[in-house]
Amino acid sequence: MAVTVFFSFFMCINIYFFGLAGTMDSPFAWIYAAFMLILYVRMMITKNWSRYRSLFQIVLAVLFMISFIGILYDERGSMSITETQFQNAETPFCQIVIPIMLIPLALTKTVIFPARMTGHFASVVSMLLIWFIVSVTIGRGWCSWVCFYGGWEDGFSRVPRKPKIKLLSRNRDIRAFQFAFLFFIVLVSLASLSSVYCEWFCPFKLVTEYPQITDITSLIATVMFIGLFLGLVIVMPLLTKKRFQCSTLCPFGAFQSVVDKVTNIGIRIDSEKCTGCMQCASVCRFFAIDTETIKEKKGQPEITCAKCGECISVCPQKAIDFAYKSSPAGKILGTIFRTGSRIVGAAPEAQKGCQSRTPKSAAGRFVAEILEPRYLFVFMAFTFSLMISNKFVPDALSRIWQAIAGGMR
Ligand code: SF4
Ligand code: SF4
Repeated sequence: MAVTVFFSFFMCINIYFFGLAGTMDSPFAWIYAAFMLILYVRMMITKNWSRYRSLFQIVLAVLFMISFIGILYDERGSMSITETQFQNAETPFCQIVIPIMLIPLALTKTVIFPARMTGHFASVVSMLLIWFIVSVTIGRGWCSWVCFYGGWEDGFSRVPRKPKIKLLSRNRDIRAFQFAFLFFIVLVSLASLSSVYCEWFCPFKLVTEYPQITDITSLIATVMFIGLFLGLVIVMPLLTKKRFQCSTLCPFGAFQSVVDKVTNIGIRIDSEKCTGCMQCASVCRFFAIDTETIKEKKGQPEITCAKCGECISVCPQKAIDFAYKSSPAGKILGTIFRTGSRIVGAAPEAQKGCQSRTPKSAAGRFVAEILEPRYLFVFMAFTFSLMISNKFVPDALSRIWQAIAGGMR
């Protein structure tokens, strides 16, 4: 209880500074702040990270679309973008393109995505800064806690009770495909010095902005966007209960899996407690637990784990949890603050030295508990989610209200 009060207090401060920053005169900002606080407190009380995480990611995805399209209509009068607007860099910068633009930027000093460098609601500099901070703290956790596109697939993957298509035996191939596609798309973008993913493969064009259809090329591209959205964002999640676009075609997702190596909190599977029931693998939407992961007692999910917490919620043996990693900083944190959490990626003999060592005093136990990786991770992830959505959520709510009020008149 004390730990819930402690983190909820600091979340109130975060909501005040990040959630309400610059928008305190808007009643919608206060509604949003109340929603986020209630959600966070519920999450802390029930310890069911995945259900509430999923709820706010779905809400974020829908409200992002409403706000984004609304802003485009205010500014351009349309969701489509013309060649001239494209040339004038009037496209908001999107995080999905970050891995594609980094190599051309380093080699040729060219930003291949034609967006504004600073200012406006999604400039290159602001998005790169947010991405960097989020990446070094929660890594691929971005995909399940911060990404405002991921909610689409998360939502559709929750509709069926059971998957029609089971893909457990293909997990390894699907992961390999995602990294191969990242490699391909980076190379092609470098060779052409253009953002090929945005031009041909992005399914989210359908819920953000798309190029005007002026010739056969733009017609084919539009058919691709529609097909990919229907196929990867709706149909495959409905059939497989997996986040299919995030796990196959999204170059940012694959890139974050690699970037995740620098983070200090990951997911650990306690092989001694595990009975091999595979319930964790069946709920993992990122193809991150295979039969081999469990049989070979790897002690952690595969590289594509997005730290969503689904597997933690379903494991009947309570064998899965957030834990400090065996990186140098993670080792130091895990050693200083070890409170029952073992270390991700450490050898079994090393784990023995990380057994729970509960402090004797009440104050010591309290400090030990608030430094549990699961609380720190969820606090950080939720804060970033708040920071990235603090403008568009109140804006979307205000647009919805205006539409309802306009309809009632
Ligand atoms: S759900 Fe838990 S017990 Fe079952 S395989 Fe996964 S880690 Fe092991
Ligand atoms: S392994 Fe667990 S935490 Fe990681 S993505 Fe899969 S369900 Fe989420």
